[in-house]
Amino acid sequence: MLADLELLVNMESPTKDKALVDQAMEFVIRRFQELTGGVVERISQARFGDQVKLHLGIGTVTGTETESETAIRQILVLGHVDTVWPAGETAHRPFSKDAQRAYGPGVFDMKCGLIQAIYAISALVKQHKLAKNIVFFINSDEEMGSRSSREWIEKEALKSDAVFVLEPALGASGALKTERKGVARFTLDVQGVSSHSGIDHRKGINALEELAYQIIYLQGLTDYSKDSTVNVGIASGGSAVNVVCDHAKAEFELRVQTISEMERLVHAVRNMQPKLKGTTLQVQGGVLRPPMERKYSEELYTSAKGLAQQLGFSLKEASTGGASDGNFTAALGVPTLDGLGAVGDGAHALHEYVEIEQIAKRCALLAHLMWEQCK
Ligand SMILES: [Zn+2]
Repeated sequence: MLADLELLVNMESPTKDKALVDQAMEFVIRRFQELTGGVVERISQARFGDQVKLHLGIGTVTGTETESETAIRQILVLGHVDTVWPAGETAHRPFSKDAQRAYGPGVFDMKCGLIQAIYAISALVKQHKLAKNIVFFINSDEEMGSRSSREWIEKEALKSDAVFVLEPALGASGALKTERKGVARFTLDVQGVSSHSGIDHRKGINALEELAYQIIYLQGLTDYSKDSTVNVGIASGGSAVNVVCDHAKAEFELRVQTISEMERLVHAVRNMQPKLKGTTLQVQGGVLRPPMERKYSEELYTSAKGLAQQLGFSLKEASTGGASDGNFTAALGVPTLDGLGAVGDGAHALHEYVEIEQIAKRCALLAHLMWEQCK
């Protein structure tokens, strides 16, 4: 597994670089086929890397699906091959390891998770006859919001009895992720009236002043007691210091724990009213990822906890503000368990690493979880 991880980490796969992502994906496909004998379906993409659906089981399909085939239930394993690291990163920071840890761009988020999944599926199909299909969907554009993959992930989720997401566990604690915040992003454009600040100050309506009121309003929608947060992250406006500013703009996001909080805040945002007479507001944007509510993870987590105990380790659960493709599947009401990838730390950071000792353990946990669902 470490040899495969080394090869995969050293194959760079920045989301925007289709050629590199496709190349790394080919390696994952090849190892999957060699180890499991499963079937590959490529969903070609023009802009991002191709999406890939690997599958095996009782109703293995090739290309187009017939009605009888869609009737066969399945479980879905979700991963992504892209990373946030630019091309060239491995030239000065290639895969490396010491006695405890493995390092390198994307090792934790989530190349180690992909390797663990291939070996888990391989072990499972060698030892058992499955009563359901296993679909392993590998996303090529997760780090940019799963724009080209979302529809395919949702389509597969709706045919699935359970979804296992290979995002890393939460930090060094190794906790699984049973709750993820939902994210919505917006831009706010404020239109005012320009004028000469010396000659015609009274005739102007300052868009920056209006924006200031709106920023305070938006930040004020934050409610820590419900774990709902609003963050205005970028603001700009104005052209010169002696001009009453007629246009200002801000970008903001909100993160919430529940679907009802998402609805409440999105409604508030869409109904913002200008404070200064003569200004207009335009809000654009919407929900990027709906929240992954704990109720959709609870049962699978209980099962995972029991299995971990049998395997000789204890498991914790955690809630996180970060979103994943698990948000999409849970929002459809499909049982989803996330954080089943590597144990380590430092996602999207230079100190990214995985705990080598945990690789086989988490691989075994995933294999047992899948088997519970496919008996
Ligand atoms: Zn990830």
